[in-house]
Amino acid sequence: MEGEHRKVIIIGAGPAGLTAALYSARANLSPLVIEGFDAGGQLMITSDVENYPGFPDGVMGPDLMALFRKQAERFGATFITDDASGVDFSERPFKVQVRKDVFSAEAVIIATGAKAKMLGLTSEQRLLGRGVSTCATCDGAFFKNQDLLVVGGGDSAIEEALFLQRFASKLSVIHRRDQLRASKIMQDRAMASDKISFVWNSTVDEVLGDHKVEGARLRNLQTGELTDIPAGGLFVAIGHTPNSSLFQGKLQLDPAGYIVVGKGLSADWDPESPYETRTSVEGVFAAGDVVDHTYRQAITASGTGCMASIDAERWLESKGH
Ligand code: NAP
Repeated sequence: MEGEHRKVIIIGAGPAGLTAALYSARANLSPLVIEGFDAGGQLMITSDVENYPGFPDGVMGPDLMALFRKQAERFGATFITDDASGVDFSERPFKVQVRKDVFSAEAVIIATGAKAKMLGLTSEQRLLGRGVSTCATCDGAFFKNQDLLVVGGGDSAIEEALFLQRFASKLSVIHRRDQLRASKIMQDRAMASDKISFVWNSTVDEVLGDHKVEGARLRNLQTGELTDIPAGGLFVAIGHTPNSSLFQGKLQLDPAGYIVVGKGLSADWDPESPYETRTSVEGVFAAGDVVDHTYRQAITASGTGCMASIDAERWLESKGH
């Protein structure tokens, strides 16, 4: 495969990348997917997915991603299980580096997704994997009959709390405001649980413990009061950052690092172009959570992955490929 040239290279293999792979493969573009070590994306660390249409009884995130991959493979997509380490979009064909190997393509679809945000505390880093976690599905079972803390007020935080209640003796959700951002149905479920309580208007000042988490020092943002709360684990669920560092200085990014596409691009990039998933480099398209800070759902990532593939296909055709 080394040095191979393809019509389309797809970087990333979550719902967006795998859907782009499926569509590109069915369009006979024989896509090469650089799936990365985090292949499958964030659904690999998600438990029951209850809102992906077509699965009335829910589906496990990793199972859903395995099905996506199998479907793309069936039509001829090929995969490299390694991270892209560099890109050169300065001329066509574009180049994508994977360790020592350089692959080239007429069009590139970026679907590198996003990753969990951390609080940024030294104690949090020190105790990561020793009671500090960003993934209840991965680590929840290690915390049987313990008191646990979940930080955040969005759907992720509530989802983590609801999942963890099957293991925890009790759970406190620490939120910096007095109102949750999570959807009403998730809020109602959490409020109805007798294991889950809320600590409002508070942030974590420090994670406590030498070799493993023993609790957290909370700061009440209204009074400034510090309170130590004992716990065996602390789950951080405060949102995500886009995986776009590879494209810094190469594509237009917004201030939070999301790749800017379509009509969001500055006016000097052909405002008449019909390609909604186009980036600031003609022939490079982007989809999924690396673009989207609003919806961030598997189904929307998948939808934009489909759009990127159709855009790439039509653009390639317009260029005579
Ligand atoms: P989010 O909606 O951005 O929520 C992040 C939460 O963390 C907010 O409550 C925010 O507080 C808080 N926060 C952010 N930075 C913080 C910091 N430094 N310290 C303390 N708290 C901090 O992110 P999300 O919950 O990951 O959800 C992202 C998207 O995925 C949403 O669209 C959500 O609906 C979706 N999602 C859906 C499901 C589901 O339907 N099953 C599950 C997970 C995620 P503020 O509220 O004050 O900003």
